[in-house]
Amino acid sequence: MELKFIPYTLQLKHTFTVSSYSRNTTPSVLLKITHKGVSGYGEASLPQYLGETQESVLDFLKKVDLQNFTEPLDLNSILNYLDNLSEGNNAAKAAVDIALHDLMSKLAGVPLYDYLRLENPSHLFTSFTLGIDSAEKLKQKIEEAEGFKYYKVKLGSENDKQIINTIHSLTDVWLFVDVNQGWEDKFYAIDMIYWLKERNVLLIEQPLPAEKIDDIAWLTEKSPLHVLADEGVKRLSDLEAVKGVYSGVNIKLMKSTGINEALKMIEKAKEFGMKVMIGCMTETSCAVKAAAHISAQADWIDLDGPLLISNDPFEGLPYNDGKIILNDGPGIGVNLKTGLFD
Ligand code: MG
Repeated sequence: MELKFIPYTLQLKHTFTVSSYSRNTTPSVLLKITHKGVSGYGEASLPQYLGETQESVLDFLKKVDLQNFTEPLDLNSILNYLDNLSEGNNAAKAAVDIALHDLMSKLAGVPLYDYLRLENPSHLFTSFTLGIDSAEKLKQKIEEAEGFKYYKVKLGSENDKQIINTIHSLTDVWLFVDVNQGWEDKFYAIDMIYWLKERNVLLIEQPLPAEKIDDIAWLTEKSPLHVLADEGVKRLSDLEAVKGVYSGVNIKLMKSTGINEALKMIEKAKEFGMKVMIGCMTETSCAVKAAAHISAQADWIDLDGPLLISNDPFEGLPYNDGKIILNDGPGIGVNLKTGLFD
């Protein structure tokens, strides 16, 4: 198996602002694994707050030697080998995991969801993300996202109520609210949640800083809306640690080290009685469509990453009024538009 990788910078269509920072680009690394003339693609998307960089991903990938593995079907051994190469590096590990899944399902000649014996998730609608913005910008973005059934609204600024009132005056679609740890106080948070419940909001993601475990558990118990972990849960072991603290979890391939562990997390979360959202970072169609393939069991999906970037190097992920369409082609089902790896 031959491994190739290149750094790539995702250009965002709009400045993206959440409670703690703004950005216009997201660094990433694209990866290709070729076996018997067939190539699988993967990607590591690297938003700053997760601590990985293009440099750290390239350093990790340079250490990966797949020569000892003759078949991509030897997935568990390969992923164990990767995980033992170093701590962390979750997105770098995800890039290899995604490419291997693409490759294996291509070699089998079936779509990835079928290869994994999962249901076709094409009945699901994704949310469209609205970062923290002025009323004018929010209006423009809502016009761009016409037809979507859900918006994911970023809160955690001084203008939270104003943002919701602006959106509420423009549209009556359902809202997911993501605070990105931006509220500090549990009493303020519960008041806000009751206020939001009256304004089409369905759930609250990461309302308080992840380390405030007791306050989050208190909030979840009192909240009339589901309280989801995002920053508070990356991998399977984190999920075990927050059983009973949140009532749901946002699972993302870049946090979970890829598809293999994300599937285990979905199963475990359901076992714990937690709701599941499948989410993404700003990513290309490759990783986002990979996540879509494992989404049939999710309660909600937030897979709009490619819609937020202007230079997606892959094609093959159409959105039909917010519905992700998976074709019957083999693998993840995306094609590289350019000869980036040549
Ligand atoms: Mg989030």
